[in-house]
Amino acid sequence: MDQYIGPEEVLRKKREYLIPCVYHFYDQPMQLVRGEMQYLYDHTGKRYLDCFAGVSVVNCGHCNPDITKAICDQVTTLQHTCTIYLTQNIVNLAERLSQITPGRLQKSFFCSSGSEANEGAALLASIYTGNHEFISLRQGLHGRTKLGMSLTGLSLWRTDASPVGGISFASNAYCYRCPLGKQYPVCDLACADEIETVIKTATSGKVAAMFAEPIQGNGGMITPPLGYFKRVKQILEAYGILFIVDEVQTGFGRTGKMFAIEHYEVEPDIMTVAKALANGTPVGAFIAKPEIADKYTRPGASTLGGNPVTAAAALATLDVIANNDLPARAAALGAQLKAGLLALQERYPLIGDVRGLGLMLGAELVSADKSPASHELDTILEKLKDRGILVGKNGPNRNVLAFQPPLVITREDVDYLLNQLDDVLAEV
Ligand code: PMP
Repeated sequence: MDQYIGPEEVLRKKREYLIPCVYHFYDQPMQLVRGEMQYLYDHTGKRYLDCFAGVSVVNCGHCNPDITKAICDQVTTLQHTCTIYLTQNIVNLAERLSQITPGRLQKSFFCSSGSEANEGAALLASIYTGNHEFISLRQGLHGRTKLGMSLTGLSLWRTDASPVGGISFASNAYCYRCPLGKQYPVCDLACADEIETVIKTATSGKVAAMFAEPIQGNGGMITPPLGYFKRVKQILEAYGILFIVDEVQTGFGRTGKMFAIEHYEVEPDIMTVAKALANGTPVGAFIAKPEIADKYTRPGASTLGGNPVTAAAALATLDVIANNDLPARAAALGAQLKAGLLALQERYPLIGDVRGLGLMLGAELVSADKSPASHELDTILEKLKDRGILVGKNGPNRNVLAFQPPLVITREDVDYLLNQLDDVLAEV
């Protein structure tokens, strides 16, 4: 390994050699040098309780020994071959995904990121339906590639001034600030019904698919009411439009079920995954119902997607999730954390809303007039960091505190986080 250079030099080289869109948190960022389950360690040896998990990636904990061993065993045996040769990890992984994904999702294509997975899912939907338009939700995020960014409704992540055409956006189910000015449940899910209006009035009628995250992560932990996706799916089916669920941030136990769409009891036609699939080793996939998948017959390959090492890491990750029942753990600890956040909300009007499922929770910070308290959020983020706790921020105004810890955290860790947050809120 290269000689240790320290955070100042890392920052200098970052400014000099990385494209500036690669942004970072914190005024004085620490240099992370080691990870161990729910903890990260900086260059001074200071320990941090990681409550962001690299944005829902490290669900099984940093350097989880079982996953590390699987990677090391594979990397010293056969590191890479292209998919033109037969190897077994990739097919075993696809088989495992077909067993744990909802409904009839069965056939997978592996790539290396969530953006690529969404690109591939869109292509498959077009091949199957013969249509080329898409519907997406405001405040959603689906990637940083040309199409991924074009499907993204969150302006903060839409740098491209000339996005791909043929994409129409519908209101999201953001009950705390309803885009339709209504109130749940008297609204009777008007935002879901709006999708039919979008189909009829904003598209040519030839729509291939609708993309949606079950919970919008970067969008601010926007968590639709439980009946929402059933209504959406009924509308899509009536118009022959596929439903592509983006589980890149919500998948693999994070929300208290293996996949977040299971809370809503609907069967997606295609699912996209990445991030936590291999606990941080780069991999992505789209998984489709067989009759849809089987239409994609022309040669397709991803040089690195689903290579023996990442597939071994993913298989070991799925074992860790199953053997430790991490979805149930996320549900139980998420309930503890949410109850704690709701108790804090009673005492601190700065917390306007608490939402999310399992260990994918957000606290929207607001001023007395409900305007976004983005500055206060940054102060809280810094103060928690000083106290050795890392949390995230998201939402269009960056005023939503994001809690997405590794699912291996403990009850004591949750109590510690809540106590420290209580102190910090009192200071702010
Ligand atoms: N979809 C969702 C829901 C995401 O949160 C992200 C990344 N934040 C992506 C897609 C893109 O994934 P990647 O960064 O692996 O390309």
